[in-house]
Amino acid sequence: MIIGIDIDNTITHTTEMIMHYARIFGQERGLNTIPDPSYYYLEDALGWDKETADEFLSLYLGRIYAEMQPKEQAIEVIRGLKREHEVILITSRNRQFPQVEEVTVNWLAQNGIVYDRLILNTTSNMHFFSKLAVCLENQIEVMIEDHYELVSEISPIIPVIMFEYPYNRHLSSDNIIRVKHWNEVRQWVNQYQLQRTAARVKIRQQRTASFLK
Ligand SMILES: [Mg+2]
Repeated sequence: MIIGIDIDNTITHTTEMIMHYARIFGQERGLNTIPDPSYYYLEDALGWDKETADEFLSLYLGRIYAEMQPKEQAIEVIRGLKREHEVILITSRNRQFPQVEEVTVNWLAQNGIVYDRLILNTTSNMHFFSKLAVCLENQIEVMIEDHYELVSEISPIIPVIMFEYPYNRHLSSDNIIRVKHWNEVRQWVNQYQLQRTAARVKIRQQRTASFLK
C-alpha cells in the first residue's frame, strides 16, 4: 500500500512546542498565553492578531521545528509500516519559509523517522495547503492526518486515520478512523491490509470458478 503521513500533530507534538514558546513570547509582550484547545490556529487559540502570530512564528518556527518531540511509538510504527508499504510524508510546512526543508529533513533523520518521500507545501499559504490533489497524484491509499479541513477533504475519497484533537472532534464518517496512539495506527493498517488481501483472493476465486463452469 501507499501510505501518506502528515507531520505536525501526527508524528510530532507540535502544539506543545508552539505553546511553550508562545508563553515566552506572549509573557514578554503582555499577551494572553492560555490557549483554547478547540481552535487549531495559534491566533484563534490565543486570541492574538494575525500580525502578532506571524511575528511569533517567523521568530520561533525554526526552533519549534528543530526541538519538538515525536509522539510515543511513532518512530517504531512508521519503521514497521515502511517494511511493507511505501511511506510518503505530506506536510503543510512551507518550502518557501527559510530553512524549513533543511530543519525538517534533519529532524526526521535525527529522530529516526524512515520514509520514501517528503512532500512539502509549495503554495503561497505558509501554513496550509490542500492535500487531496497530492494524495491522488501519489496514489495514496490511506492518509494519516489531524487537520480538520484536510480530513474533511480527503476522507470522502481515501480512508483517513485521524489523530484525535479537540479541534477535529466534530468530524465523523465511516472513512475516518479516529486514533489517539500510534499503536492503533499499526493495528488498523494491519487489519485493513488483511481485508484487502482477503477481498482480492475472493475475486480471484470467483473468476476461477466462473472460468471452470
Ligand atoms: Mg498536522
